[in-house]
Amino acid sequence: MITSAPAPSQPEDWQRELARAVSDPAELLRLLELPDSLLAGAQRAAATFPLRVTRHYLGLIRRGDPGDPLLRQVLPLDEERHPAPGFVTDPVGDSAAALGDGLIHKYHGRALLVVTGACAIHCRYCFRRHYPYAEDSALRDPAAVLARLRKMPEIREVILSGGDPLSLSDGRLQVLLDGLEELPQLRRLRIHSRLPLVLPERLTGRLVSRLAASRLGVSLVLHANHPRELAPALRPGLRALREAGVTLLNQSVLLRGVNDEAATLAELSEALFDHGVLPYYLHLLDPVAGSAHFAVSSDEAGALHRQLCAQLPGYLLPRLVREVPGEPSKRPMEAP
Ligand code: SF4
Repeated sequence: MITSAPAPSQPEDWQRELARAVSDPAELLRLLELPDSLLAGAQRAAATFPLRVTRHYLGLIRRGDPGDPLLRQVLPLDEERHPAPGFVTDPVGDSAAALGDGLIHKYHGRALLVVTGACAIHCRYCFRRHYPYAEDSALRDPAAVLARLRKMPEIREVILSGGDPLSLSDGRLQVLLDGLEELPQLRRLRIHSRLPLVLPERLTGRLVSRLAASRLGVSLVLHANHPRELAPALRPGLRALREAGVTLLNQSVLLRGVNDEAATLAELSEALFDHGVLPYYLHLLDPVAGSAHFAVSSDEAGALHRQLCAQLPGYLLPRLVREVPGEPSKRPMEAP
């Protein structure tokens, strides 16, 4: 069990790789053989929300193709700077549901912990791209957030979110997990992470062992949006997690120019199943300022979902939902 193993004194391979993430738009364009004409817009947009992409993810992007669906998720564009009606800095009502110390309580029996603002990749459509991480993160004072949770006996499940919770070191995760496991009312732990997709080395034996040892029922929700994100390098880590008893789910965001075709979404569901992951949600875009160029209308989303429904068995069909601030659950958007 991880508690008896000494923490590594040197950065692990995945941490070294994380440190090599590309953050300079000029370098991104050069590595991907993209035209210089994209540079000025990328620099302007990156000044507001920096570019960040791992070398593994770069390796999945087609060279010389400005329309590549994976590139579109990470390349800063001038469009992000255009205001659009209804697109706001807090599209899912996080601030109204924030209790302090990184704790967000929206849904019955569940509480979400924002544990870090760090991510291995900066998704241009990120609904928390304007989140005040410096002021509100559970890691600033883990004891305080655990004390708050102790006074919430109705909470059965804690969701680790961010930022990306797997960008934390195993040592920091361990402190958090040790504390959560002491809360008698908790039954489940859910981790939302895009990190395995963009840095498969993150699924270390040490991490898998710690999750396997938890008394909580653990699920990991990946955030894959396109079938090409499920690279062969991901398979061993996901298999180890499955063997450790971790439930693997996926939620995607429906994104214009990325996955807004039924064939792509069907292929994504098939690829997820091949990797032992079940599709869970297909989210309509949260209308965060800077992301309007990714939006797909509700009508179009409904039509796409009906096409998917005709192509896939029910267990591979993600539920089409939208998050509406103040509502007690995600709002189903599927046609009756
Ligand atoms: S990994 Fe998640 S939290 Fe991080 S930028 Fe992407 S969508 Fe946002």
